[in-house]
Amino acid sequence: MKQYVRFSKNKTIYYGIIENSKIHHISSTPFENYDLTSEISSFSEVDILPPLIPGKIICIGLNYRDHLNHIGEKPEPKHPEPFLVTPSAIIAHNSSIILPEGATQVEEEAELVVIIGKTCKNVSAKNAKDYIFGYTCGNDVSARDWQKNDLQWTRAKSSDTFAPIGPYITTGIDPDSLDIQCRVNDKIVQNSNTKHLIHSVSKIIAFISSFMTLEEGDLIFTGTPGEPAQLHPGDKIEVEIEHLGILTNQVEK
Ligand code: MG
Repeated sequence: MKQYVRFSKNKTIYYGIIENSKIHHISSTPFENYDLTSEISSFSEVDILPPLIPGKIICIGLNYRDHLNHIGEKPEPKHPEPFLVTPSAIIAHNSSIILPEGATQVEEEAELVVIIGKTCKNVSAKNAKDYIFGYTCGNDVSARDWQKNDLQWTRAKSSDTFAPIGPYITTGIDPDSLDIQCRVNDKIVQNSNTKHLIHSVSKIIAFISSFMTLEEGDLIFTGTPGEPAQLHPGDKIEVEIEHLGILTNQVEK
């Protein structure tokens, strides 16, 4: 298992590898061959950035049984249900989720996010994990009133600040059995495990790659469990996933 963080320090952007709670700077991105440099930073000296800016973001809807119950959908989808979110919606750990003007019911959605490592098309579920670089925490923030009433989900899901990701990338773990939790103001509102995904990470990659080329750095949000909570100005939102750390964001009007 390795953990990579993208950060800025003295107005320069770096990647580092986390060891013993310190950041060891590396010479390039973790997607390339890199060397450890001699520079080491502590978290208090840096601003954490989104772990990457992807080419595209694919999100899977309706992928936990208890979430289907929550929104009143009875049958489980026969295949993963993807939709797109624009990369401009991404924000970093510790940044603010801004409630857009006119949206009356904005909710969090804690989700495991897969980071693709290699270009792939038509991969089998059996080989899908060969194309994964790593994982991070995500929050698929959703304006539920717009999601219900608009014909398209674009503003419901891609408004600015609606895709918090981070705080870092973890590699070399099994994505199929990770505890996942969301807390709002320290109260647990979602609490599940990725073993309850209706369509597993491998099946999701096989399905998407059957019709769309996946490329290095693309993100896949894998769906949210249970009953997401409505967000209000001043709230502190924490998405915590086993081995992936805690993604914290506050809410502003
Ligand atoms: Mg979602």
